[in-house]
Amino acid sequence: MTRIRFAPSPTGNLHLGTLRTALFSWLYAKATDGQFILRIEDTDQKRSEAQYEKSILEGLDWMGITLDESPSNNGVFGPYRQSERMEQGVYQKVAQQLLDAEKAYYCFDTPAELDAERQAAIDSKKPYVYSRKALKLTKEEINTKLAANVPYTIRFKMPDTGTLTYTDLIRGDVSFDLSLMGDFVIMKSDQSPSYNFAVVVDDIGMAISHVVRGEDHISNMPRQLCLCDALGQSWPQYAHMPMILGPDKSKLSKRHGATNVIDYREQGYLSEALFNYLSLLGW
Ligand code: GLU
Repeated sequence: MTRIRFAPSPTGNLHLGTLRTALFSWLYAKATDGQFILRIEDTDQKRSEAQYEKSILEGLDWMGITLDESPSNNGVFGPYRQSERMEQGVYQKVAQQLLDAEKAYYCFDTPAELDAERQAAIDSKKPYVYSRKALKLTKEEINTKLAANVPYTIRFKMPDTGTLTYTDLIRGDVSFDLSLMGDFVIMKSDQSPSYNFAVVVDDIGMAISHVVRGEDHISNMPRQLCLCDALGQSWPQYAHMPMILGPDKSKLSKRHGATNVIDYREQGYLSEALFNYLSLLGW
């Protein structure tokens, strides 16, 4: 069964680019008798606002894009807001599982230490890859720091060599050099999950079969796929959609006009016309 999720962050109104991703995802879900799922990615508490979630729901509803599972239409895989999943300890649990399997590790480096590492890489004109200093700590050192409440993040151990290739439904085979990736943070020092971690935990937990999103997320693929591997899960299928560009060939943004889909309704556009326009854009 096709299960496609649409996973916007409620940090702004629903705009055309995001709506187009939702539209193609919904069409594919319906064409394959599958399910279309709305997951609200609101782990960034500072930037997420309820009014933006409302704008997303209002825009989808106006377009006739129906939701099989969503925060207000709870299916068996809920909750459908990452903030609520966080409160339930969903991400903590998986992070602990990775720590226990030694696929992730505590990192007590301070922001200043990490900045110095990054600056050294810039100075020597090399791509920045975390030094794995924290991986050298002994169990005793780790326990002492934990007992003393030293702030920490949890980092995922990436493979340090090799090439990873996946087949994108739109772009075909895409390969990455894993030696350039470096170990990345999965749990931040405030105990919230990083984007790359939460997305993978939830796609697995919600039995997602297809991920359709903007191509600005391709660079996240090696991290997300390696996490899937570490959790012993097969990969969903991925389709990365090209961005909508403005007349000046830069990514469509506020500078190019209306940002809130609902503004088009206020301007007298019919939702059918917008639906048709977005479906044919980049067909
Ligand atoms: N929440 C992400 C965003 O709004 C999308 C994540 C994803 O589709 O994997 O950009």
